Amino acid sequence: MTGDGPRIDWPRLQRRLLNLLPPRTVVAARQELLAYDCDGLSLHRHQPPLVVLPETTEQVAAVVKLCADNGVPFVARGSGTGLSGGAVAESEALVIATSRMRSILKVDLPNRQVVVQPGVINSWVTRAVAGEGFYYAPDPSSQVVCSIGGNVAENSGGVHCLKYGVTSNHVLGLEVVLPDGSVTQLGGNLAEMPELDLRGVFIGSEGTLGIATAITLRLLQAPQSVAVLLADFTAMEQAGEAVRLVTAAGVLPAGMEIMDNFTINAVDDLFGRDEYPRDAAAVLLIELDGQEREVAAAVALTSSLCHQAGARTIRQASEAADRALLWKGRKSAFAAVGRITPTYYVQDGVVPRGALPGVLAAIECLSRQFNLPVANVFHAGDGNLHPLILYKADEPGVNERVQQLGAEILRLCLEAGGSITGEHGVGSDKRCYLDWMFSADDLATMQLVRRAFDPDALANPGKIFPTPASCGESSRRQAVLRQQGSNHTGAELF
Ligand SMILES: Cc1cc2nc3c(=O)[nH]c(=O)nc-3n(C[C@H](O)[C@H](O)[C@H](O)COP(=O)(O)OP(=O)(O)OC[C@H]3O[C@@H](n4cnc5c(N)ncnc54)[C@H](O)[C@@H]3O)c2cc1C
Repeated sequence: MTGDGPRIDWPRLQRRLLNLLPPRTVVAARQELLAYDCDGLSLHRHQPPLVVLPETTEQVAAVVKLCADNGVPFVARGSGTGLSGGAVAESEALVIATSRMRSILKVDLPNRQVVVQPGVINSWVTRAVAGEGFYYAPDPSSQVVCSIGGNVAENSGGVHCLKYGVTSNHVLGLEVVLPDGSVTQLGGNLAEMPELDLRGVFIGSEGTLGIATAITLRLLQAPQSVAVLLADFTAMEQAGEAVRLVTAAGVLPAGMEIMDNFTINAVDDLFGRDEYPRDAAAVLLIELDGQEREVAAAVALTSSLCHQAGARTIRQASEAADRALLWKGRKSAFAAVGRITPTYYVQDGVVPRGALPGVLAAIECLSRQFNLPVANVFHAGDGNLHPLILYKADEPGVNERVQQLGAEILRLCLEAGGSITGEHGVGSDKRCYLDWMFSADDLATMQLVRRAFDPDALANPGKIFPTPASCGESSRRQAVLRQQGSNHTGAELF
């Protein structure tokens, strides 16, 4: 099946898929398969043997059933913007891409819901309902390209998730093709369903429990008033202190994001204008929304707290176009850094808000120690860091150094009481660190849940869970277990 398992007769599988699917939905040409060899994280590359592009739930179900009957592993793929290697077929597996499943199936404004196919692009949902005064809240910075199916699988967050919650708070129901090819419904179109919350189990499962083929999303009414503040600081600690003061005062902004000096300059260079003050050590973007009077009061209080923390200047944008301009830089930060360096590695760790200044200072030390520049841009309100490690891919041995630095950053996050991922998932990139957070018993329990959906482990094999094969015998996992004095490795379920 995978690794040392029985080999798959791919030419035969291709013939059977051609019989199952409409013309031009099976990709087998080497040059075309190149487009599927990685996701947004270019460190891990593996070209799949075959890719299919189904258009309907029935076609997905037929393909998955064929896989189940023949022991063929499969990997769901949305837009391929993931940042943990989740959509990459690293062992021999069929890639099932949803890029032809891009219909909005139903718009139900009275009940504030839409039903979409999984390949629908995140920003299309808001675009479809904005005219009626509604929007879809989860807004990853990649929202103009990433798919709703990918968002569900990663439980994606975004700028507005501080106030409104992540994807799982906005998905009511899911139609899912299970790994045996059967189709089932998880959740529904009601806020509460009288059943085990399998919808919640599926969201964030990174393609390991099946393929979502239709998704019912909750819509929100656009707020009456919105203001964005841009505060700039001469020290990162001051920006962190502003975040602390604002939240301690009971203000709940829609979003609170910080960019460091490196990122500010990268973004200003990208757009060829000085939108953000180039000499600032950090800028803090704060969005406040609600009723007009409520927003006016929050703007006044937040501004005074930012000044108290040491803000040099505070700019306010209330018109939609000005607000969009302030956010444009933040949302283009990764692309802006990508213009400066041919390659970068985005880390994704979480720390309690209060630990932000200390952890950022420690990251700076690590950056010097590893001799690799690190740019910082992050969801400050929820302590979700995205250090971008800049490197030149052609430098010998650099991949290992980058991964070591990434791991050290995650270690810092854990020591500060945080997590190894905030929103980009575990995928293949972080599976060897999962046991830094969870005991062998925890991991074995997660595997029991997974096997209840997928007894043969055909759906996105090798992702999320550490295995001796992927993490090595000398894995940190064994070391941690020894430290914990446990004899139980949990390996019997892998
Ligand atoms: C510039 C940039 C900015 C980003 N900003 C953010 C951000 O602010 N917040 C954030 O959370 N993420 C962010 N991301 C990461 C990424 O965009 C998200 O993880 C996104 O949800 C991935 O969607 P996708 O369609 O590209 O999924 P893919 O990369 O194609 O797949 C991701 C995972 O989902 C699984 N999958 C895909 N479709 C399905 C399906 N229908 N059913 C079951 N499993 C499926 C895949 O198997 C894989 O494990 C960013 C990425 C980039 C490149």
